[in-house]
Amino acid sequence: MNQDGICCHLCGHERLTTIAGYEARHCITSDCRPWRKGGRLAICPTCHCVQKIIDEIWQQEVDEIYKVYQINYQNNGKEPLVFDSASGMVLPRSKRLLQCLESQLHFPKMGNLLDIGCGNGSWLHTFNQFAPQWSLTGTELNDITRSHVEKINGVKAFHTCPPFEIAGTFDLITIIEVLEHIPNPKDFLMKLSDKLESNGLLILEFPNYLEDPFDLLVADHCTHFTPSTIKEIIPEQYEIITIATHWIPKKISVVACKRKAHKKTVTPKKEPLSLDSVTQAIKWLEATFDHFSRLPVKGPLGVFGTGIAATWLACELEDKVDFFVDEDLGRINKTFMNRPVYTPSDLPENSHVLIAQPFPLAQKIHHRLAKFGATFYLPPPPQ
Ligand SMILES: [Zn+2]
Repeated sequence: MNQDGICCHLCGHERLTTIAGYEARHCITSDCRPWRKGGRLAICPTCHCVQKIIDEIWQQEVDEIYKVYQINYQNNGKEPLVFDSASGMVLPRSKRLLQCLESQLHFPKMGNLLDIGCGNGSWLHTFNQFAPQWSLTGTELNDITRSHVEKINGVKAFHTCPPFEIAGTFDLITIIEVLEHIPNPKDFLMKLSDKLESNGLLILEFPNYLEDPFDLLVADHCTHFTPSTIKEIIPEQYEIITIATHWIPKKISVVACKRKAHKKTVTPKKEPLSLDSVTQAIKWLEATFDHFSRLPVKGPLGVFGTGIAATWLACELEDKVDFFVDEDLGRINKTFMNRPVYTPSDLPENSHVLIAQPFPLAQKIHHRLAKFGATFYLPPPPQ
């Protein structure tokens, strides 16, 4: 169905194609709280970007979400852990990102960093431990995390104004899990280029819906990027150095610098047409709900995780879910959505646990958890 009168917020095309079936699914907020059904997801026939329909209704919903936003409340503000199946290592997400960046880039001993949408300062804290002589600046939409961030070593300033209004320029600008929240991200990045030193670096990280269809359900994410669409969105003021999909599971990480005329830019791998990908992703979410809701389970029913996907599945299954299971020890022995959170080694007898994660990741999790005394269920493989 074509949605007249609503422009693509990336390229300005005037007729977006809405994705059927999306409105029937529950939405979730990006801080993992249940949200309403009835969201509107669309794709632009020109730039192929998957996006929410950004109108007054969406803007009001987002204002409502941000008013009570509590980042990583499942573990008192601590960021999620990343499980690296190859090395078996478990690291906080910002440490993992820094490790990957360090393997590719040389950071000078001193410099200044601007972190846009710094939340409670997890990345600033990690960066300070790595480069204690850098001067750090964070921005947020409001003052909720100001006192917390200002106490982090190395932090010189915290702003709630748009980043373009901050005085001076920066050697490194980071936008981690933020770009997907910003309407018209191309324009935003274009204006931001004035804040980047001529030899400075821009680092972006955001969800990859091709690897994580659950991201489409996040009400306050207005753009759902892929490696190809991000290339279209990064304005000509920048040169892309790296687009990585393996640094952080389910995320795209991008490193860019200011454009120098003679350099070649990175070309991402060819992707299937976005309309096919997003239609398949929504069908897979429907099939996942259908599969899990029909299982003939007798015994306590749990959902793996306490993130976006687990929140969504618990909303869809309503009162069928008795508990959650999490491998992050900081998240256990608490309640989440009014249910207990157990560690895999401490599950109730005769438990059944649904692993609502993208299929390849669900297989890895199942492999790790199979030794524990419960029956685990995977989502259907992608069609
Ligand atoms: Zn467009």
